[in-house]
Formats: sequence, structure tokens, C-alpha cells
Amino acid sequence: MNLAFIVLEYWWVILPGILLGFYAQMKVNSTYKHFTQVACDSGLTGAQAAREILDRSGLHDVEILETGGHLSDHYDPTRRTLVLSSENYHGRSISALGVAAHEAGHALQHKDAYAPLHARMALVPVTQFASTATTWIFIGGMFMGMAKLATFGLMAFAVIALFQLITLPVEFNASSRARRQLIQIGLISDSENRDVGRVLNAAALTYVAALVSSLLYLLQFALMAAGNDE
Ligand SMILES: [Zn+2]
Repeated sequence: MNLAFIVLEYWWVILPGILLGFYAQMKVNSTYKHFTQVACDSGLTGAQAAREILDRSGLHDVEILETGGHLSDHYDPTRRTLVLSSENYHGRSISALGVAAHEAGHALQHKDAYAPLHARMALVPVTQFASTATTWIFIGGMFMGMAKLATFGLMAFAVIALFQLITLPVEFNASSRARRQLIQIGLISDSENRDVGRVLNAAALTYVAALVSSLLYLLQFALMAAGNDE
């Protein structure tokens, strides 16, 4: 989220996105924290559950690593490794199981050559460039003038919004794969499945909020560009 843009014309356009972003962050933190206190019946750690899911799909060579940080869990498609935060790696809670299974879901997508995952991977470099650009266009814009700033802003946020749009099916699909696997292997009960859903849906809301924010930034620059045309 680039708060520098609130000094621009039409700054109020991005306000709902900022508020939704804060709400989504609060929601994921509170839901995740709540279900770290709820032990899972299977007694497995997040790492053990993920290992089970990966092995059942023949992904014996996908390594599971532990990393520091809060909710730093991810699947690295370039190294084909599943990286879990210490809390979820060792945790035996609904939250740990849900997050670990979700990351395993990404590994399953990779194995199945799931198209949106590959589209997302292809967009990573250009999106990183666009994200860096948004921190610089603002400073550059003061020298270039508002018309050019609006054009650069439009291009950068169009790329970022496209990336976040493709992220949505990737994330929702990883979560549904996770829950299906957990049920099929018999690692969770029906009521646990509902709670895993609560954790994963709260996490998904942050991706929706990120997309809404980018679209509003895009709208802000579009209004600026239109205003400068007159
Ligand atoms: Zn994910």
C-alpha cells in the first residue's frame, strides 16, 4: 500500500481500499491467532500434515523447510520447496494444519501445471518492477508534472492489479485443494474442516483487499489522467 498517494488529487478514491486492507489484516490476525489455540484431533504438526499430502501425490522430492517470521509461509516454485514459519512447522493447531496444507496445495498446483499458477509466476518479474516503480514515480512525478505521473501510475497499477487478479484463483484453489486433501487423507473431521475454512478464508480476504486497493489506485490515476486532458 502506497500511502504517499494520499497527497494527490482524488486521494479519497483510495480510502475504502485502505480501510478494507486494515480490516482484512485485523481479521486474518485474529482468526489465525484464535485457531492457533485450537489443537487438531490428529495431533500432527503442520510439517507432518504437509508431508503426508505431498507424499500421497508422489511429491516425495518437495522439501519442507522451516523459516522465521510471522505467517511467512509460502511455496517456492523455483526451488520446489515448501517453506513454513516455525509456528506452523511445529504447531499442532487448526491454524498450523490449514496454512501448511494450503502451501502443499500450491505444490499440487505446480505438479498439475495449473494455468493460473504459471501465469502468476510469469508475471512476478514485471510486477516487482512495477511495485518498485510506484515508490519512485511519486518522487519522479514532482519533477515530471502531474500528466506524466498519471500515465506512469496508470501503467504500474495496471500491472499490479492484473497480478493480484490472477493471484485470486491461485489462492482460492490452493485452499480448496488443501481442505479436500485433509478430508480425503482423514487428517481432519467435518467440524475441523469448517474451522480450517475460517482460517483460510480470512487469509484469502487479504488478497481480495489487495486487489480492491490496486483497482482504486488505478482509478485514482485514471481520474488524474482524465483531469489533465481537459
Ligand atoms: Zn497461497
